[in-house]
Amino acid sequence: MGETSPEVYAQFLRARRAELMDRIADAAARAGRNADEVTLLAVSKTVDVPQMLLAIQQGYLAFGENRPQDLQRKAEALKDVPGVRIDMIGNLQRNKINKVLGNAELVHSISSLHLAEAVSNRAEARGIAVRCLLEVNVSGEESKSGMVPSDVARTAERMMELPGVSIEGLMTMAPAGSLSAARACFSGLRELRDELRASSGLELPTLSCGMSGDFEVAVEEGSTLVRLGRIVFDESYADARR
Ligand SMILES: *Cc1c(COP(=O)(O)O)cnc(C)c1O
Repeated sequence: MGETSPEVYAQFLRARRAELMDRIADAAARAGRNADEVTLLAVSKTVDVPQMLLAIQQGYLAFGENRPQDLQRKAEALKDVPGVRIDMIGNLQRNKINKVLGNAELVHSISSLHLAEAVSNRAEARGIAVRCLLEVNVSGEESKSGMVPSDVARTAERMMELPGVSIEGLMTMAPAGSLSAARACFSGLRELRDELRASSGLELPTLSCGMSGDFEVAVEEGSTLVRLGRIVFDESYADARR
């Protein structure tokens, strides 16, 4: 929020949200899709609870966090606010799983069978099943986390035997800087989802892809969940973009 008063920041959040909903609707329409198939996840990792509360007042209900500790703390702070969910979108280390269990609505970052087994074991001990996405490194960039595409089918098959996890879809991060490379990454994710759906019989309703710089392309390629951070919360983001 910086120097900005809460009132001015709330106004910014409201106007920006309206703009984002319009842009998502337009992108969906270009692809012959319905905008209500797309969830806007507000990635709140750079802000704290007061800003999240202002965002909630403007209509945001779904948030994403990439650190287990922050997710746990914010989930605790917001637990009495009706309808609010927080997803785990960042790299998850096995010794942090307990901070996420019961606090995250959906874990986007299952990047290996090893991690899935650890999550399942801890979930089973609590008598719950964790809703998960498989994170896939579609672009093949070395810096990106996620499993290689050729591991998806086998990992999913093994995970289907684990009682503490349920696979709801796939997640990826696109290469930065090139919209055509991002588009190829998102369509690759959709094709992987279609193949996995056919081979596994899973429904796989969720495709988590698209960030501040590429969400319209992601929606055009089938994203059902865009993860928007800077463009939601950072007042200087649009200025840098234009
Ligand atoms: C930070 C983050 C985002 C949001 O990125 P922006 O470019 O700020 O929209 C999305 N997904 C993941 C996994 C992130 O860590």
